[in-house]
Amino acid sequence: MALFSPWTKSKSSGAVLQKATNQGTRLFNQRLVLKVIYDSSPTSRADVARATGLTRTTVSGAVEHLIRSGLTEEVGTGRSTGGKAPILLNVPDEARHLIGVDVGDSRVSGAIVDLRGHVRHESQVPLDGRDGEQALSRIEDLLDRLVAATDKPLLGIGLGTPGFIDTATGTVRWAVNLDWHDLALGERLQKRYRLPVYVANDSQAAALAEYAFGHHGSSNLLVVKVGEGIGAGLVLDGRLFQGTRSGAGEIGHTAVADNRRICRCGRVGCLETVATMHAVLERARELAPDAPDSVLHGTTDPEDITFARLVSAFEAHDRLAREVVLDSAHHLGRTIGALIGSLDPSHVILVGAMTVFGDPWLAAIRREAQRSALTLLVDATRVEIGKLTPNIVVLGSAALLMTRELGLSPAA
Ligand SMILES: [Zn+2]
Repeated sequence: MALFSPWTKSKSSGAVLQKATNQGTRLFNQRLVLKVIYDSSPTSRADVARATGLTRTTVSGAVEHLIRSGLTEEVGTGRSTGGKAPILLNVPDEARHLIGVDVGDSRVSGAIVDLRGHVRHESQVPLDGRDGEQALSRIEDLLDRLVAATDKPLLGIGLGTPGFIDTATGTVRWAVNLDWHDLALGERLQKRYRLPVYVANDSQAAALAEYAFGHHGSSNLLVVKVGEGIGAGLVLDGRLFQGTRSGAGEIGHTAVADNRRICRCGRVGCLETVATMHAVLERARELAPDAPDSVLHGTTDPEDITFARLVSAFEAHDRLAREVVLDSAHHLGRTIGALIGSLDPSHVILVGAMTVFGDPWLAAIRREAQRSALTLLVDATRVEIGKLTPNIVVLGSAALLMTRELGLSPAA
């Protein structure tokens, strides 16, 4: 049963158009009723009618349809307010399973998630430097496994991937690391799995996850993902804001540093040349030979200074490690200050591998953000490290799918 499929557009007779309009209204009402049950379950038909302003008959019709499709169940009776005790309704967590996928730099992670964002099953495949068609076939291997791992009805597939993504069509316009250009990823997967597929930029997916599952109680939040790349996802007025060309939040490639480092985008001095994992590691390797007081000093092969070693040195208050990491936070803080100054969000949530540097890194970001934007705005904004990692992109992709297919969002 195609519960929420769009009705067929028709240019023919008025009767057909009328039918389409009726179907549209029915679909709209079903979504509305489902949303109220989901947000305030357990609840009764009478309460749903009150909350939606729909008639009791319309609500009963919609509920009947939802029960038939498995998206709603009756769960006992509530307290009577004089008459017959009302039957209570609920949306079962596992009424549908969702597949969420995070296309990372070194691996692809995926999970089966239920309608409340609980992870039911997880799987991963390494990318091992594969890009282009080879990376795609790895993603399909993972999806094959995930599809086979569920016995519940699947709502669809959501993917978060780095790069410029046209979410409306599921097309990857440009993903530099994966060497994808104008790749119709959504269409390809839709054909293969015969399921709805949604594709979003990974930082944008992370923002949706924080909005949907992070319990921030806010409809204006920014998520800044700092790891092997840097990007921001913007949820404004409760909606993902993607900009004119899906490029909103591409802060990693704004020129902030007065250096001569060439970025992977081909330009010079981008935020990514100073504040990513790779950038801090490179800087530490460069400075270590001249820093005899550092535990990173004295290694003959610069490759011996790994990210893990840099993290332990930082935690042990090593001067060089501190300087390199906090200097990167300084650049990031300036960019975040500019975002706060222009968008006035309630929360800025930092996610990604660089958050391993914890409170000192966060404090340096806050300090610089305060310096670069109106104190009034920055002081009122909560700048913090997210708690949803490492599944954040997986959850966000699932949240995108759920919002687009069912009109549900746990935060609403
Ligand atoms: Zn760049």
